[in-house]
Amino acid sequence: MNKKVIFNEDMCKGCALCVKACPIDIIKISETINLKGYHPARVENQEACISCAACGRICPDGVITVYRPIQRKNAS
Ligand code: SF4
Ligand code: SF4
Repeated sequence: MNKKVIFNEDMCKGCALCVKACPIDIIKISETINLKGYHPARVENQEACISCAACGRICPDGVITVYRPIQRKNAS
């Protein structure tokens, strides 16, 4: 399945604002270190994401892109 939320991990400063903003608690701070020397945030369980975009709105560095599933209208 396609990812719903994508983190540009090398831009992340590990502030964890997005971790607190996620209503279903699926954003975690990684144990790895990015190019800036921070532990970046990421989502492992993409399927659980509800595309609410709370993480994308709160991130001060524009690290996160959220995709919403296409809503198809019934033709009838
Ligand atoms: S879009 Fe919403 S549910 Fe998905 S990771 Fe961001 S805050 Fe969590
Ligand atoms: S809010 Fe942005 S900069 Fe802060 S941890 Fe989340 S993705 Fe990284």
